Amino acid sequence: MSPRKKLGLLVIPWILVVAFSAASPGQLEKIYWGSEVPAGWSGDWPVEFQTVPEKTNFQKTTPHHEILEFINGLLWKSENLHVFNMYTSELRNVCPLVIMANPRVTSPEDAKASGKPVVYLQANIHPSEPSGKEALLILMRDILLGDKKHLLNNQVILVVPSLNVDGNDAWSLTASTTLPGLLGTRTNALGYDLNRDAIKLETPAVRELYRNVFNRWDPVLVYCSHHMGGQKYAYPIVYCTSNVPTAHPGPRGYVHETLFPAVRSAVREKWGVETFFHAGTNHSEAWPPTIWTFDLSAWTVEGKFIVSGYGLRNRMSILVESAWHNTFEKHIYSQYAYASELLEYTNTHGKEMMKVCFDADQDTVNKVMAKAESGQLKNWVEGKYESRGKVDLFMYPEVEYEYIPGTSIRRIKPAALEKGPVVIRGIEDITKPVGIKEATFPRGYLIPAKFKDIVEKLRIHNINVHVLEKSVKVSGEEFVVDNLKKVQKRGYEMTELEGGFLKSTKEFPAGTYQVDLAQPLANMAFYCLEPEVGDGFVGWGLFDDYLISIGVRERSVVYPVFKYLKIVE
Ligand SMILES: [Zn+2]
Repeated sequence: MSPRKKLGLLVIPWILVVAFSAASPGQLEKIYWGSEVPAGWSGDWPVEFQTVPEKTNFQKTTPHHEILEFINGLLWKSENLHVFNMYTSELRNVCPLVIMANPRVTSPEDAKASGKPVVYLQANIHPSEPSGKEALLILMRDILLGDKKHLLNNQVILVVPSLNVDGNDAWSLTASTTLPGLLGTRTNALGYDLNRDAIKLETPAVRELYRNVFNRWDPVLVYCSHHMGGQKYAYPIVYCTSNVPTAHPGPRGYVHETLFPAVRSAVREKWGVETFFHAGTNHSEAWPPTIWTFDLSAWTVEGKFIVSGYGLRNRMSILVESAWHNTFEKHIYSQYAYASELLEYTNTHGKEMMKVCFDADQDTVNKVMAKAESGQLKNWVEGKYESRGKVDLFMYPEVEYEYIPGTSIRRIKPAALEKGPVVIRGIEDITKPVGIKEATFPRGYLIPAKFKDIVEKLRIHNINVHVLEKSVKVSGEEFVVDNLKKVQKRGYEMTELEGGFLKSTKEFPAGTYQVDLAQPLANMAFYCLEPEVGDGFVGWGLFDDYLISIGVRERSVVYPVFKYLKIVE
């Protein structure tokens, strides 16, 4: 918001008042439903500090070079800013990472010395979903030049407003009224979806995100912004955290139980925006819908999404999605409201969040030290969602596209939103992540020297890998592969190995890679290397060529990564 024009939420004359007799979901007073926003909500700024949507009555999204110009303008006006190039894309575009701190911070070492938590926000991993990009640009301006400078009192804020820099300018037509006529593409220049690359690490963007942000700055919280299509819920923005059962439950439990309710209340009270979890209903099969599940919003319990994968590092992470049926301005408004209140929360509770994360680090190491050698330590290799009970949801029953007469442009049927939402009661809430299959959590893994590429990926995941200086004899388990199957899962051809573990004692020569799991990122290493994890390295096909070369098509073979419980000698 502008320093000159404070927003008076309570005096806006046309707030839609929705009062339901039921207490749930949420006690509502003044809530902006549909595409309504408070007039002038983003302030009254000179044109040089306006974003492209602000300059175009929210008709256009910001091209890449104007993102750079906007950040350059901030550099000339604020002493609380540092910028570096996070990566250079396939089309040679730079991806600026903006560091905001008071006093200014220019390195991870400075940030650590300040004792403040680092919070990382990114948008535009899918440039066809650009409202988070616009909201973060506005928020950066308001923190550096406006009335939100206090957000730098207790935290260091890192922002990548546009992660998929090539996709941003690969313009395509929307033929829709709810978003700008020209939008970037979901994928990068080579057609990769960056938000499925969190484990397999095949894109430079994600590899450099890990190297330059996650590994060096160790954010206590990672935030990633999206749009959600196809749903009929009335919430302008929805949220979720990492739900990988393999991850330490401490950080995700804190986000779910403590942070989400607090931010939800603040966003409702200060911005008039009602929010809820990012799940989906079965409205296309039944009305009223009967189930509410992450599986219908593509948010599986897998680690392949950036936010999910980050949960495997004992850190906190949040994904938000603004709703497809709203105008671009409402998207940006709700994204701005959510990110603002999240940063208010982290500014106040950052130390508490750091403690939860560091406790998870310590607990992970302690368990491996105490129990792994016995073979009694286990962790999940597969999970699913189960019911938490029933929920009531605000929904728009009639939200659908239609053509505007005389044009070839689609719009949401106007009456669908004007009537306001209805409450659908008693929907089964299938959003509780649980493990369903476990495996022995070993003391460590041994990987033959030829698998340099695998080890490189482990190191990008920030996992410590040593090279044996002399041979070792170990006891543990090896996985015998009876069959390698390729299966289609959500648009990807994944590998599944059929087989089982056998107890074994083996000797490994000097030069073998050793992953000692007495390290904070043990759960991430387990997730990547366990042969039964559906979207670990095996699932993404990283061992296919090797297994085929040793004859898995004809006979049983041994998976090359050995799980050791004890070093015998
Ligand atoms: Zn997305």
